[in-house]
Amino acid sequence: MMQVLDITPKRWQDSLKQAITDPQELLDRLSLPNELLDQAKAASQLFPLRVPNEFLNRMEAGNPNDPLLKQILPIGDEFIQTPGFTEDPLNESEARPTPGVVHKYQDRALLILSGACAINCRYCFRRHFPYSENQLSGEHWQTALAYLKGHKELREVIFSGGDPLVTPDGRFSNMVADLEEIPHLERLRIHTRLPVVIPSRVTEQFIDTLQHSRFDSVVVLHINHANEIDDSLRHAVTNLKKSGATILNQAVLLKGVNDCADEQIKLSRALFSAGILPYYLFLFDPVAGASHFDIPIEQGKKIFAQMQKSLPGYLVPRLAKEISGKTSKTLLISS
Ligand code: SF4
Repeated sequence: MMQVLDITPKRWQDSLKQAITDPQELLDRLSLPNELLDQAKAASQLFPLRVPNEFLNRMEAGNPNDPLLKQILPIGDEFIQTPGFTEDPLNESEARPTPGVVHKYQDRALLILSGACAINCRYCFRRHFPYSENQLSGEHWQTALAYLKGHKELREVIFSGGDPLVTPDGRFSNMVADLEEIPHLERLRIHTRLPVVIPSRVTEQFIDTLQHSRFDSVVVLHINHANEIDDSLRHAVTNLKKSGATILNQAVLLKGVNDCADEQIKLSRALFSAGILPYYLFLFDPVAGASHFDIPIEQGKKIFAQMQKSLPGYLVPRLAKEISGKTSKTLLISS
């Protein structure tokens, strides 16, 4: 009898290592035309290609317009220089009091836990972020803790990145324990795409860390299209809920990916069936190299108005835009 080899990675770290980084392999795996290769190779020099197999398996083979593929395929449009699109669209460099800490809003500070991601999203507003200067290891971690201790107005710490869940479980739980020593902190928020693209990242140890933490925890996932939600993600979210964390989603309106009301309505419904509440729908941040994803604000408002008509209030995310220098996100209303 022929033996069938099980090539499914057993650990999330294996999935990370096995992520596809070679444009030729991506095209071959999805039976895509080779004319895409030169552009993909060139644009991956600007920002590397990276996509885990678990995410790739949700794409439709042979479809160059697949909404998941469009989020990760390097293309020639990334070389277009558009006025107003910059390397640091949210001016985060001006809100970094110490390496790895971004403090823009009064009662919460963001920690850049990792410079790595499991997936490289072409539209990422941090695609040019100087991660090498902002590693929170050793000395920088102690400086960050001192900063948080000294700012008694802070109530919440947000783990961000890169993807903060690239951090191994042991180190992650030590970091949470260090933060728990700071009495004025009450909440821990984790912004991550890793459980979406590699659902096995939701390990027992990670759940245990959140479950036994004194913090109220919030996990904000990043899902842009209903096709990103499959059984493995639903299963991971069911497990994650055992930790007691509130699970939310933030999405970005992206041209050619999810820029119509039907897709957004489908996304909200699929999120809710998976146990995730829609939280924010962001208008695109003007990052250099990704202007081809941008849509006009008025179009975003029209999509939102249709969502409001079709969905109950609890399934309508907040339509928002981050404007650099503002003390909170700017909420937009439909016209
Ligand atoms: S930080 Fe988030 S949006 Fe940016 S590349 Fe990583 S996973 Fe994608």
